Amino acid sequence: MREEWNRISLYCRTTFHHHDGRRALEPMEFEYNRNNAAQHAAYPPRIRSVLGRAHLALMFFNQCKRLDIPITWNVPIVAYDEEAEIATAISIDGRRFLGDIVIAADGIGSKSHGAVLGHPVRAIGTGYT
Ligand SMILES: Cc1cc2nc3c(=O)[nH]c(=O)nc-3n(C[C@H](O)[C@H](O)[C@H](O)COP(=O)(O)OP(=O)(O)OC[C@H]3O[C@@H](n4cnc5c(N)ncnc54)[C@H](O)[C@@H]3O)c2cc1C
Repeated sequence: MREEWNRISLYCRTTFHHHDGRRALEPMEFEYNRNNAAQHAAYPPRIRSVLGRAHLALMFFNQCKRLDIPITWNVPIVAYDEEAEIATAISIDGRRFLGDIVIAADGIGSKSHGAVLGHPVRAIGTGYT
């Protein structure tokens, strides 16, 4: 996976320019690689700053294939459950996918909030873009 990551990502520094093309700041190291930043989870490799989303998804997919992790497509998950140390993802058609852990990576509006917090959590504006 590391080899694939190096192949699909670019290591570059960040620069900021004005609309007329003048450079506003000197090129700088991507924030995770700066000396005063907290050590990131992938340390010691440097974080490579530019990567296409499709390539990243494909890299994870290829790793699942290498590890023989089965993938089931097009199954909307409507709820998660945890009981007697078994984690369960429940699909819209009533199927129950069991495991030691569930990684609820279903994005904004994740159905996991019901299991973790006891109620759904709506996305809220932070005021930032
Ligand atoms: C317009 C835009 C531009 C962005 N630009 C950048 C950028 O340049 N750089 C950057 O780092 N980040 C960027 N982001 C943020 C980045 O896309 C998100 O932080 C990131 O995609 C979140 O990843 P995730 O895996 O948590 O969720 P997501 O990428 O949202 O993935 C969630 C997945 O779960 C699936 N899913 C949802 N509900 C269910 C369900 N009930 N059952 C089964 N599957 C379900 C969805 O189909 C989706 O495939 C941008 C976001 C937006 C909206």
